[in-house]
Amino acid sequence: MIDFEDALRIVLSEAKVLGSERIFISEALNRVVYKDIYAQLDIPSFDNAAMDGFAVINEDLLPLKNALPVKLKIVGQTPAGDIPTSIKRGEAVKIYTGAPIPEGADTVIELELTKINGDEVEFLAYREKGANIRKKGEDIKKGELLLESGKVLRGYELGILASHNIVTLDVFRMPRVGIFVTGDEILDVGQEKLKDSEIRSSNHISIMGLLESMGIKPTFLGIVKDDKEAIKEVLGRIDEFDILISTGGVSVSDKDFTKEAVKELGFDVKFHKVAIKPGKPMLFAKKGDKLFFGLPGNPVSCVINFDILVRPVIKKMMGYKDIIKPFLRAKLIAPIKRKSSDRLEFLRGILNLEQELLVEALPKQDSHMLTTFRSANCYILVPKGVNEIPAGEYVDVIMFSSYIR
Ligand code: AMP
Ligand code: MG
Repeated sequence: MIDFEDALRIVLSEAKVLGSERIFISEALNRVVYKDIYAQLDIPSFDNAAMDGFAVINEDLLPLKNALPVKLKIVGQTPAGDIPTSIKRGEAVKIYTGAPIPEGADTVIELELTKINGDEVEFLAYREKGANIRKKGEDIKKGELLLESGKVLRGYELGILASHNIVTLDVFRMPRVGIFVTGDEILDVGQEKLKDSEIRSSNHISIMGLLESMGIKPTFLGIVKDDKEAIKEVLGRIDEFDILISTGGVSVSDKDFTKEAVKELGFDVKFHKVAIKPGKPMLFAKKGDKLFFGLPGNPVSCVINFDILVRPVIKKMMGYKDIIKPFLRAKLIAPIKRKSSDRLEFLRGILNLEQELLVEALPKQDSHMLTTFRSANCYILVPKGVNEIPAGEYVDVIMFSSYIR
């Protein structure tokens, strides 16, 4: 049995960052930039008006500083999208937000500070030279670094790409993930139940949902009986994937065949059993570059092991730089007690922000109690060797959403 930190170090060191593929911007949400991307143009690409108003020459406004009136001749208008006319001293051009600044003009006075009288406009207040003008290149200049390798593309970054007319881009390839579940008692959702002792499989549905929320399109390889040959047959498909995941059949009973099957197929077993609760019976093996995770059958253990040991591997393969978010420190508002302290425990908790971060472990923590996830938003870490943590102490917390992305 190995410690969690060692297990995490091993899985991460065995995982390789995947290569790249070119995709359309429309498919790029949550993907990771492969190569640094540089600005294709200056943004803004031309000096333009930040407000609706009048473009003028600042010197014409100077009398306003001494409370003297200024009236200028309106010589035209420039809506957004139009090519502007130029102006001379004594002239003003009506201008709209986003429209290019006419040649000669250096200031825009907002419409609210003007009075229009026929083809004449009077100005009610002075503005400094350059007022209400967005300068060419003030956001970013052509050739500057726009998005660096490793950047995860959210809606914000997609907008940045769009403004540079970047239609296709290179991102890290997504891992191909296959999943199967094992157990003579296991039934798929919707499948007819023949015996009371049969159990619905939640594991493949949970894990596929978690994978899909990371943008992965997993392949479900079915429900496999507790039969070594049947398990070996599915394991034999590992070459089709970067990662193969199974659930169940990794404990110590004579109905648990996954480890033997893996060994007989020549996989290299890196570890079996991690000192964590829940989720101790976890198997990690490798065949060439292909990774195999044998997750426990208990639905809670299965999901937690995915979150803490598989998700970081997927993030590494996808090109993420920050694979593991730092733990949050939160104040415990109710004591935690446990009987044995031989393993690091992950309790599902509720984290709230009041004056500070407060956290509480939920009731019903057993590894078959999936419903606890309904109100949980974090894991509380109870370290090895610790039996009791009083209220008021600070604990390490992993928030679900921040752990995910
Ligand atoms: P195992 O790891 O195969 O010994 O299974 C441990 C527990 O998890 C047993 O109670 C199983 O019935 C249950 N279990 C196994 N596979 C699944 C699954 N796919 N969905 C829900 N529960 C499961
Ligand atoms: Mg089983």
